[in-house]
This record gives sequence, structure tokens and C-alpha cells, in this order.
Amino acid sequence: MSQNVLILGAPGAGKGTQSARIAEEFDVEHVTTGDALRANKHMETEHGTPASFMDEGELVPDPVVNEIVRAALSEADGFVLDGYPRNLSQAEYLDDITDLDVVLYLDVDEDELVNRLTGRRLDPETGDIYHVEYNPPESEEVEERLVQREDDTEETVRERLRVYRENTRPVIDHYEERGDLVRIDGEQTPDEVWEDIRETIENEA
Ligand code: AMP
Repeated sequence: MSQNVLILGAPGAGKGTQSARIAEEFDVEHVTTGDALRANKHMETEHGTPASFMDEGELVPDPVVNEIVRAALSEADGFVLDGYPRNLSQAEYLDDITDLDVVLYLDVDEDELVNRLTGRRLDPETGDIYHVEYNPPESEEVEERLVQREDDTEETVRERLRVYRENTRPVIDHYEERGDLVRIDGEQTPDEVWEDIRETIENEA
């Protein structure tokens, strides 16, 4: 039976990397609001363009994001949801439209998040994620084409973490109070984190 998985954690906790592995291993849809919004950054909505919020590290208004998630989940036979909900009102909306089988929380210390995000680089051709220090590419050709996400600069990263503390921490408490949350130590290596996640999802099946 296909699973509905929610993955929570701060920016830079490893949600994108681990979600891609979950989607592949468990054959579910990877639904990520960050990627969906980046693909539509300059779309005019009655609330303004997503870019006008994203480039400042602020949350895009709920109606825009809720609609993206509603449409994506209605088409998915099993999913891993990444980057949503980011505040309590989104969490309530999600409660209304779907049931979750597994809620994972990738726990990473804040100093570590700043290092990870400001050093993060992307390969625009493959979508692969690197880090200037922890995970540089082996080939010079790849190294030369790497780009930095516009919101991974130090100033915007600090603001994203502030928004996370203020708006998204309460979402984690919301699931924890319901007894649904499985905490994963996100400071382990990516492979170790993956092992914990895989075991958790298999046990919940
Ligand atoms: P991410 O790739 O998940 O780090 O998201 C990048 C940016 O997209 C965030 O800093 C927000 O501006 C916006 N965004 C992504 N998901 C949401 C969401 N659930 N609610 C509001 N804004 C979002």
C-alpha cells in the first residue's frame, strides 16, 4: 500500500536529499513546495509574485501554497511532502485534506544549518546538491557550473531561520503533541540518516 509521508525540519536539515530517496525507494510522489514555487517564481498572483517573498526569506502567502499542495496531493498515489506545512494554519489545512502515515522530523542544530546553507551549491544540469567544504564535486567541469540558490546568502539564511523558529517550530510541536512525530538525528551522515528513515517507514507500513 502506498504511504503518505511528511518530512519536517529546518531549512538545510536535509529534507530535499532524503525526500528524493524516499520517493525512489517507496515509489511515492515527491511533493515539494520550494521547487514548485521556484518553478513559478515570477507568476503574478493576487498576493504578488512568489519571488517577492522568497528572495527575502519570507513565507509565500498561505492561499498560494495551500493550492499547490491540494492540487499535487489530489493526483498522488502516495507521497512524501517536503517544505510544507510551515505554519500552524497550513498544518490545519493539511489535516483537512489528507491523512498521514508517517511524520518524520530531521533534527539539526542551528549553527550547523547556517554552515550547510551558505556553503550549499547546486548543479543546474542534474539538480544534484553539493557543499563547498563538506561535499565538493570531483570533476572540475561540474565545479565550474555550480550555482548558489538566491536565498542561500548569509543574510537571507538568517531570516529564513528566524521565520522557521517563529512559524514552523509550532508545527513540529503540533505533531509531537499528537504523538505522531518520529525524531531523526539529522546530524549523522546522509547514509545514516537514510537508514533511520527507511527503517521508520518500513515499521509504520
Ligand atoms: P525551500 O526550498 O523549502 O527552502 O523553500 C524556499 C522558499 O520558498 C521559502 O523560504 C519560502 O519563501 C517559500 N516556501 C516554500 N514552502 C513554503 C510554504 N509551505 N509556505 C510558505 N512559503 C514557502
